[in-house]
Amino acid sequence: MKNKPDYDVIIVGAGAAGGILGRELSDAGLSVCVLERGPMLETKDVSMDELRFPVRQNLLWATPRTGGMAWRPHSRAATERVFPRIPQLLDGWGPGGSMNHWGGASWRFEPTVFKALDVWGQIPNGAIANWPISYEDLEPYYTKFEYRIGVSGDASRMIHGPPRTLPYPLPPLEQGYATNHFAKASRDLGYKPFQMPAGIITRDYQGRNRTGYCGFCMGYECTVDAKSNTRVTEIKEALKSLNFTMLTDRYVYQITMSSPNRADGVICLDSSGKVHELTASIVIVAANTLYNSWLLLLSRNPHAPSGIGNQYGQVGKYFHQHAFFGVTGLFNERMNVHVGPSEPLMAITNYTENRFDHTGLGFVMGGFIFGAHAAGAAGQPIEFAKSIPLPEGVPSWGPLFKEFITQTFGRYYLVFALLTDPPLLTNFIDLDPQAKNQLGFPLPRLTFSWSAQLHKMHRFFYPKMAEIMQAARAQKIWGGHDVQPPWELSHPSGGTRMGEDDRVSVTDRYGKVHGVRNLFVAGNSLFPTMSAFNLTETIGALAYWQADYIKQAVFKGDLI
Ligand SMILES: Cc1cc2nc3c(=O)[nH]c(=O)nc-3n(C[C@H](O)[C@H](O)[C@H](O)COP(=O)(O)OP(=O)(O)OC[C@H]3O[C@@H](n4cnc5c(N)ncnc54)[C@H](O)[C@@H]3O)c2cc1C
Ligand code: SF4
Repeated sequence: MKNKPDYDVIIVGAGAAGGILGRELSDAGLSVCVLERGPMLETKDVSMDELRFPVRQNLLWATPRTGGMAWRPHSRAATERVFPRIPQLLDGWGPGGSMNHWGGASWRFEPTVFKALDVWGQIPNGAIANWPISYEDLEPYYTKFEYRIGVSGDASRMIHGPPRTLPYPLPPLEQGYATNHFAKASRDLGYKPFQMPAGIITRDYQGRNRTGYCGFCMGYECTVDAKSNTRVTEIKEALKSLNFTMLTDRYVYQITMSSPNRADGVICLDSSGKVHELTASIVIVAANTLYNSWLLLLSRNPHAPSGIGNQYGQVGKYFHQHAFFGVTGLFNERMNVHVGPSEPLMAITNYTENRFDHTGLGFVMGGFIFGAHAAGAAGQPIEFAKSIPLPEGVPSWGPLFKEFITQTFGRYYLVFALLTDPPLLTNFIDLDPQAKNQLGFPLPRLTFSWSAQLHKMHRFFYPKMAEIMQAARAQKIWGGHDVQPPWELSHPSGGTRMGEDDRVSVTDRYGKVHGVRNLFVAGNSLFPTMSAFNLTETIGALAYWQADYIKQAVFKGDLI
């Protein structure tokens, strides 16, 4: 290693977690370099172009050159599928990361999630664990996320909402016709639906424009910067500081080490094939779940022969994710669910976490129901035709298909559920022995099957959702008879679990890799166990929490 490192801090990945850490640490006076494999996106580069964004996935998504993954159902199977891009909730590309094309649903986790093992106990083959931190630890950082990034909502209407010190900084989104329709049907059944909090600003806020309710939302970047992401908030601010350097087109493939307990920096490639080696006093890996484990495993070296942080074989372990499914209803009147932001949705949280009696159900944890959702990302016509589940008897092409599409677009909505699948001992990420990306690096391989309990959970939720459609007087109801295939990712989490015990976790409560004094991991790969809710606000809160720890440790002289 050079005598003086190039930077105080190197961060791999400029998404939700990396963007927040980059700003916080450079604001504190540290010299920070963020390395991002994708290009710098400008708001002027984005447009309301269905083909370009959600359909062809240009600009906002990682390319097969650096992206991709492999999948197999269990550890005795060979790789069964290889994907040049991550299927379903595709991974980010460029500053802002996956938040560039996210939907904006912005939830806090419940206090019980942090004590999951105490609440549920262990299930067969399960790896449920308590978090090494509590909701109370994170509460100030949830607030910081909501105010810095811009979250709209009305906490007073959120039944069972966790305790909070401040209201949301912005009022909730206006609801569309379809959402009000769903809410009325739910209320007729005795539920108390409420507006989901959203990372979409409803008033002009900190130099950004409020939403124009355009409808080209999830799957797109916002043309007026109303959709909150770290590119238009934290990274934009950090770029004003001389302490902050953003290097795009840098694909990091190795963390370097000069002793068993110290990371020196990283090695990366640019698109011309040039290799760059950079050094830092602190290295933070914030490359999203699959690539966090991938980079630690790929960085094996004489000081860490099985991969960094993997001395007890823990890197990649306890992968878990959300299962989802939607029930579709066709109505007599126009619903126009493709109009407006993606997240002015109403949520029903009666069956979330431990809020209901689980006796005899055969599953732990829960999910939440929301409506009215569009087919595909934002439900625009081409996406709709590509993604709408087809009822029995409707072919996928030809005149009957066209007739179905013409009749249904504008007159349907979906009721959706996100379900929590607990972490299992048998689900994990490793490096595929054969499959490679276009640069020749091994793909992250997922060994993953849904838990045995998930189908029971689905059977519990499905009739409740169909009942809402019936109460809404849908003319026809279809779909939702199973959750997505296990290789279609939805909020992939785990792999570098945080915990107190280094034999069953990869990092400590601040995301610092056990045994390496200056290497951190950020993002939801740290989660020991998930909540039913969307997770990015928790990723952000954790990043602010980590940043505070790093700042204090640096000022005490512990890290630099
Ligand atoms: C379509 C879609 C809708 C979503 N909707 C919601 C929602 O409504 N609510 C919610 O809470 N969450 C949502 N999410 C999930 C959310 O966007 C992610 O959970 C969150 O952005 C993850 O944050 P992160 O920082 O861990 O990773 P990311 O934001 O993905 O950032 C990781 C960054 O690392 C970079 N990177 C990866 N590998 C390397 C490497 N080797 N070298 C250099 N750079 C690298 C990537 O290019 C990327 O920019 C959605 C996701 C998608 C795709
Ligand atoms: S609906 Fe609003 S937040 Fe979404 S893309 Fe359009 S203007 Fe932006």
